Amino acid sequence: MNNSNHERLIRGMLLMLVCLLIYLGVNVNVKNTFITDGSTFKGEGENAGTVYLTFDDGPSKYTETVLDTLKQYNAVATFFLVGDSVTDEYEGTLKRMQDEGHAIGLHCSCHSYNKVYSDTSSCVKSILDEREFLRNRYGIESDLCRLPGGSTNVFIKNKKEVVETLHSEGLKIFDWNVTAEDSVGVPTAESIMKNIFPDVYNKEEPIVLMHDGVNNKLTVDLLPQILQNLTEYGYKFGTLAERDEFFYK
Ligand SMILES: [Zn+2]
Repeated sequence: MNNSNHERLIRGMLLMLVCLLIYLGVNVNVKNTFITDGSTFKGEGENAGTVYLTFDDGPSKYTETVLDTLKQYNAVATFFLVGDSVTDEYEGTLKRMQDEGHAIGLHCSCHSYNKVYSDTSSCVKSILDEREFLRNRYGIESDLCRLPGGSTNVFIKNKKEVVETLHSEGLKIFDWNVTAEDSVGVPTAESIMKNIFPDVYNKEEPIVLMHDGVNNKLTVDLLPQILQNLTEYGYKFGTLAERDEFFYK
């Protein structure tokens, strides 16, 4: 074999190798490539573990739709309710949450940062008042809570005291490690999807912050796509009642 034949043979073999790699790459990726609004990413798809979806600021006119979608995907979630939004009109919604395996958590009585964080203990009072209200009016017991804005926000005046008091009341505090950022600024379908994916895949036991308040129609509209992605990836869904406390220390 002369030199030019030899080069041609090597070039041919390299071409075949490249084709083989492309073929393998395409086939592997097809299975685990998920299309989101505006981005494509690859996932591992196996042993994904449990994802904990959370919805803050409800109940609202969208909460029943959230429950419908969760049911469709056989998923459970945790709802951190605003006490002032819980009216008798939502009694059936609360019952449905419980009947369908979701967890109910405490968020605050009134979602006004000025009121919630007016002094050292006001956020604790806001949460404990909500607990009393849900207990007395609807017979709902919850030991889960999420501070408005999370436990790490600039409004909390004495976080150590707040945490200790909530713990002494038997409450577990939950922040999140993935956020849809669906209640700040002007979220779009693309921004919400990009905030969740692929970040959620990089977290162990992801807790995803979303909202089902009166301004969160977009989240509710995107929920089928979000659940589809998570289901295809192999996640199971859990409630925070099954998980250890998680907050930013
Ligand atoms: Zn909130």
